[in-house]
Amino acid sequence: MIAEIISIGTELLLGQITDTNRPYIAQKLSQFGIDSYHQSIVGDNYERMLAEITVANRRSDLVIMIGGLGPTEDDLTKSVAADFLQQPLVDDADALNKVVDWHQTTGVPMAESNKLQAKYINGGQAIKNDVGFAVGSYYQNPDGADFLLLPGPPWELEPMVDKYVLPLFQANYLQNQVMRSLVLRYYGIGESRLETELRPLIDAQTNPTIATYAKKHEVTVRLTSQAETEAEADALNEALATKINEVGGEYLYGYDDDNSLAAVTNQAIQDHDFTVSVADNFTGGRVFATLNPLASEAGTYQAVTLPQIPVTDTKTATVLNETVAAEQASDIVLSITPDADNSELAIDDTAYHTEKVWFSITLADHTQTFERTLARDHASNTESAQFIALDILRRTALNLPLLERK
Ligand code: AMP
Ligand code: MG
Repeated sequence: MIAEIISIGTELLLGQITDTNRPYIAQKLSQFGIDSYHQSIVGDNYERMLAEITVANRRSDLVIMIGGLGPTEDDLTKSVAADFLQQPLVDDADALNKVVDWHQTTGVPMAESNKLQAKYINGGQAIKNDVGFAVGSYYQNPDGADFLLLPGPPWELEPMVDKYVLPLFQANYLQNQVMRSLVLRYYGIGESRLETELRPLIDAQTNPTIATYAKKHEVTVRLTSQAETEAEADALNEALATKINEVGGEYLYGYDDDNSLAAVTNQAIQDHDFTVSVADNFTGGRVFATLNPLASEAGTYQAVTLPQIPVTDTKTATVLNETVAAEQASDIVLSITPDADNSELAIDDTAYHTEKVWFSITLADHTQTFERTLARDHASNTESAQFIALDILRRTALNLPLLERK
């Protein structure tokens, strides 16, 4: 199953508006296991739109046209698609009532062209727009690609896709199979390394499919399965996740799209009823500031100050952290200290610098200390240190070994 997305609008071509609709739909397609090999932007021009859908119709099974469903003269999408499909446009009675009623209720005079927004392609179906006036149009074409037309405003398109379009995909392209995704989240391993390790599995993928995504400080892997029941699809995902984690399991910190290393770290700390003091001379308080709002109990986290003693070796960093720990009632004490030999850098300094940072963590009279050398711009180094600190806290709370530098 191959879908093609065409965004329509001269303003998009001119760079006046960023096309957010195409990636929005592209992500949904990939979650449904629908391939998308071509995506394009075309201006509000009849001939060029027609040329584009002629090509798309030949090479794809579904052509998604976005934008140009409005009432103005440059809104040509429906007429281009209808002409191409040799079908007239017909009224959707509900949508027409909605336009007419609104104009009557508000007293705004209605231009005849407004009625265009209530039309869809004959032989297909209208797709309801709960937010605006322009209905979408879905046409299943026995002689070529299916056509799906959606309005441009993202606040209309996004809810329409979620509420009405995805069920259409489900019913028409998944042959009553269900689709389930499992997202695995890794910290401490780079995408290229994880992908290299997973290469044999990725090359063999069919069901589930595997997609790896690199974010700035982490890598996520999305497994997507199709099966007759949710339970079967979940089982397929879980079996593959087990295989993947034979390779990357040491770096797995959590699951789900809406998750973060900070959230998982906080959860681990709360699950163990730990309290944490953070003495942070490097990230400008980011570690505390990230965790503290997540705590369900006040006082879980404390930001404490660190004596101004220059640190250039493991021993000093350890003694320093143990000194702080002796003064604190917290279960865990973490210090993040720049090496005394680092040069002073402003946060807006964008050049790359090598900065050495000491991390020392104490729990129950046991202290672990190590240094990391960070080698990007100062702001990125600061962010990296924040993630390192979160992972140290998470691993300490869960009694997992701290990561070797990879
Ligand atoms: P249209 O459906 O072409 O009349 O578009 C109406 C408005 O929706 C445009 O003026 C843009 O503000 C917005 N819009 C249209 N297409 C896109 C797109 N692909 N991504 C983001 N915004 C869009
Ligand atoms: Mg437009």
